[in-house]
Amino acid sequence: MKIGIVGGGISGLTAAFYLQKKGYDCTVLEKNNVAGGCISTEQKDGRIYENGPNSLLFTSKHLKFIEEVGFLDELIEAEAVNKDRFILKNGKYHVLPSGPQNFFSNKFFSGKTKWKIITEYFRKNQAASDKETVYDFFLRRFNKEICDYALDPFVSGIYAGDPKKLAIKASFPSLYEAEHKHGSIIKGMIKKRKENKENGVPTERRTAYSFKEGNFSFIKKLADQVNIKSSFTVKNILKEEQYFTIEGESETLQFDHVVIASDIYSSSSFLKGLLPTVANKIENIVAPPMCVVHSVYSKDAVKNAPIGFGGLNPRLEKTFTAGSIWTSCIFPNRTPQGEAMITSFVGGMQNPEKTNLSEDELKEGVAHELNSTLNIEGQPIYQKVFKWEKAIPQYSYDIVELWEEMNKNEIDGLHFTTNWKGGIAVPECIDQAIALSENI
Ligand SMILES: Cc1cc2nc3c(=O)[nH]c(=O)nc-3n(C[C@H](O)[C@H](O)[C@H](O)COP(=O)(O)OP(=O)(O)OC[C@H]3O[C@@H](n4cnc5c(N)ncnc54)[C@H](O)[C@@H]3O)c2cc1C
Repeated sequence: MKIGIVGGGISGLTAAFYLQKKGYDCTVLEKNNVAGGCISTEQKDGRIYENGPNSLLFTSKHLKFIEEVGFLDELIEAEAVNKDRFILKNGKYHVLPSGPQNFFSNKFFSGKTKWKIITEYFRKNQAASDKETVYDFFLRRFNKEICDYALDPFVSGIYAGDPKKLAIKASFPSLYEAEHKHGSIIKGMIKKRKENKENGVPTERRTAYSFKEGNFSFIKKLADQVNIKSSFTVKNILKEEQYFTIEGESETLQFDHVVIASDIYSSSSFLKGLLPTVANKIENIVAPPMCVVHSVYSKDAVKNAPIGFGGLNPRLEKTFTAGSIWTSCIFPNRTPQGEAMITSFVGGMQNPEKTNLSEDELKEGVAHELNSTLNIEGQPIYQKVFKWEKAIPQYSYDIVELWEEMNKNEIDGLHFTTNWKGGIAVPECIDQAIALSENI
């Protein structure tokens, strides 16, 4: 059986890897001359810059995949300090409680908010609408302090998003389900854990990883093991009788099955003929621009900076960046000894207009802010800017409508495994692609 896979990011490559193992004849069609999509690493002067994902939260299932690809020796675990996550409040970073053990002693949240968290189990209130946003859900279950100083920065960290625009059932489906089924998030989670225990399902903690030479090194190894036709832009897909025809710029190919693994903003154009109503809904989905600014300092300059995974900036703090990953704290091999790297994010749904600033303005804005928020002395030795015109698809109610339309218009032999359905994080893309390959 011949399978055509549109898109050579982690989703398409993982699907190809497992479908090929099942004995299918797979071809990945990738519009760029290199695979990887969002996973993009640059190496220069002994430094490793991640322009896309930095750390990947894997479980044993993902490690098994990496082992099958033959790359386990290259995997590196983040330093233990990655568990310390910081939030900016009144211009200074404060560490969040890392679990129940320091929930009461940690001073980040007020006593009133801690009480709201503890009593969530007993709270009986219901959503005013079945289109509740992430912000309204958290406001109803907790309070404004949680929304403004925990939810808002986390949502901009994960989705580059705005919690007032995201759909709770799409963005945080497990929290939505927990409350929907059991009346409380905490109660639902306790029940789920109990259920898993009874059914012998292990509850595994996710651990943060990357690869020695950066995340793209894994893509390269994976891509070497599948059949890729690069610089092939899919222009149109047709279904004729038993098979699909994929039209490229100068070549037409035939397949028995087709897997769509392309990004949201490129997919409507080639689905217009086959799935016109789905293509229309795709056009409603927003993916905001985002600039990634890497700043390299001498170790001495950052000696008074906090140590941890990174810091997120709530919108109320009116900062230039949405936050930073303190790259060298979690993966010290990203720079030569004696240097430290900080990776900052500018733009997203909260400040898309800032991505139109010049490179110099971006660099200056970031360096200025890091001086005050991280107590850095002096200027960066080097800075580098990478711009994503469309970073992360927003899981709003428009995307819920898109999923409904996709479900109504299923076509035999046409499959989807994308970061715009089923989760945006790399491990979620891998999970989805593995599940798909098991079902074909
Ligand atoms: C700045 C940033 C930071 C992130 N940080 C993290 C993180 O720390 N941890 C984490 O887990 N996740 C993170 N993510 C999310 C994660 O990287 C992505 O969701 C994931 O890599 C998406 O993979 P994908 O294969 O589904 O899609 P993509 O990577 O978007 O790949 C789609 C591929 O399809 C190709 N394509 C598109 N149209 C066509 C066409 N017509 N014909 C042929 N090919 C086509 C594209 O060229 C591309 O290669 C981040 C994302 C961004 C942008």
